[in-house]
Amino acid sequence: MTKTIEPTPEVIDVARRLTNYDAAYLECRTIGHAWMVSFVGPVSKADTDVRERARRHSWSPDAARILACQRCLTQRIDLCVVGYGRDSYSYRMVSRQYRYRDNYKVEGAHGNRDLLHEELFRRNQ
Ligand SMILES: [Zn+2]
Repeated sequence: MTKTIEPTPEVIDVARRLTNYDAAYLECRTIGHAWMVSFVGPVSKADTDVRERARRHSWSPDAARILACQRCLTQRIDLCVVGYGRDSYSYRMVSRQYRYRDNYKVEGAHGNRDLLHEELFRRNQ
């Protein structure tokens, strides 16, 4: 016998908000982003926002890679510290941050993949 769990008012509220959620966002949040590299290089050649993020970081990253999702346009910013020794080269990622489009985040839906999947399947019945 299957036990039925009654959703809380908060869960019902999130589910209601997801009925208007952007289809591309819903796809990305249930299967992952479709990344393409849009920038790789020294922080000094990155956009102002990336340079500012690097400036504030305690590791003083000097290289950046920006990925852009082809579906929802979210951007991922990886910041790295690159070191050159006499006979060696090292590369360490010290930060990964995201730039989301407006309305990508839905209050209460973060970490609740079941609700996102429910909405995806509700739309595709
Ligand atoms: Zn995406």
